[in-house]
Amino acid sequence: MKAAILHRPGKFVIEERPIPSITPDQVLVKTTACGVCTGEVEMWEGKNPGIKFPIFIGHEASGIIEKVGANVREYQAGDHVAAWIEGQGYADYFAVHFGSLYRLRPETPMELALGEPIACAVNGVRKADVQFNQSVCLVGCGFMGLIMLQVFRARGAGMIIAVDTREEILQLAQQLGAAYTFNPRTADVAQAVRDLTGGKGVDIGVEAAGRQETLDLTAALVRMEGKLEVFGFHQGGPRQVDWGYWNWMAFQIVNGHSRSAHLYIEGMNIGLELMEAKKLVMKPLVTHRFPLFEINEAFRTAAGKSPGFIKGVIVF
Ligand SMILES: [Zn+2]
Repeated sequence: MKAAILHRPGKFVIEERPIPSITPDQVLVKTTACGVCTGEVEMWEGKNPGIKFPIFIGHEASGIIEKVGANVREYQAGDHVAAWIEGQGYADYFAVHFGSLYRLRPETPMELALGEPIACAVNGVRKADVQFNQSVCLVGCGFMGLIMLQVFRARGAGMIIAVDTREEILQLAQQLGAAYTFNPRTADVAQAVRDLTGGKGVDIGVEAAGRQETLDLTAALVRMEGKLEVFGFHQGGPRQVDWGYWNWMAFQIVNGHSRSAHLYIEGMNIGLELMEAKKLVMKPLVTHRFPLFEINEAFRTAAGKSPGFIKGVIVF
C-alpha cells in the first residue's frame, strides 16, 4: 500500500509499505479520508522540537472495513466507519481496535466524518458545561471553533457571539448560529460584548485560537464569576495572564483539553451522532481536498491559511 511518511519538516515521502496485519480485536480499514490536523501542521513546520523523524502520522481517519479480527462481532466488512487512531492514517489502509470506531450511515460523506477533531470540540463544549440560555463568546472561529459553536447551540446555549479576524469566517459563523459577530481589527469587541450583556460580559468565554492576544481578549469579555475556557493549542513558549484581574473577577478557569481515550471515543460518538442528526453541519467547514500524492501541498495550504481555508482533508 501507499503511505505518506513525514521524513523531515516540510517533506512527506510516499513509500510502499505492507498492508498492516490485525490482531483478533482489530479491524482493517481501507482509508477513504484523513483530515490534516493543525497540530500536525506545526510538526510539518518544524515548530515541534521533540519529534523524531521519520514519523508516520495522520489521526483523523475514516474508511470502509476490509476485514475484521476473530473476536469482532460488532462490525463486518463493508461497514463505513470513523476511527480514533493515534497515527498511520495517511495510508491506503490502517488497523484499529474495534472499540475505537463509530459506524457511519452509508449515505454520510466519509470525508466529513473526522472523528478526532469532532471529539475534541464536543469535549471542549462538555467541559464548559453550558447551562440553558447562557451566553457564550467564541474567540477564534477556525475549524474547531465553528464545530464548537454548533455544539454549544445543540447543548442549549443562549446568545452566541463569534469573534475572528476573517470576514468570510464571521459570515459563516452567522449562518451556523452566531447571533453577533465581531472582528477585533475593526471593532472594540470588549465594548460591543458589554453592550450586548447589560455591561456584565458573557457567561462563558472560549479562547479557541491559541494565541496570547486571544487569551487577553477572551478574559476581557467574561463576566464576573463566569467561565473562561482555554481551548486553543498553546504550545511553543509560555503565556502571560493578568492574574490579578483573573483572580479579582473570580473566573472559573477551564482547560478545554482532554487526553484519555475513553473521553475521545465518547466525544466522537456524540459528535458524529449530532452530525448524522443534522445538528452539526460539517460540509462548509471542509474547504480543501487533496489526493495522497499531493500531501505536501495539503500541508503547505494548511500552514499558509489562504483566504477561505478552514480545513484540508486527504481523500483516497
Ligand atoms: Zn487532530
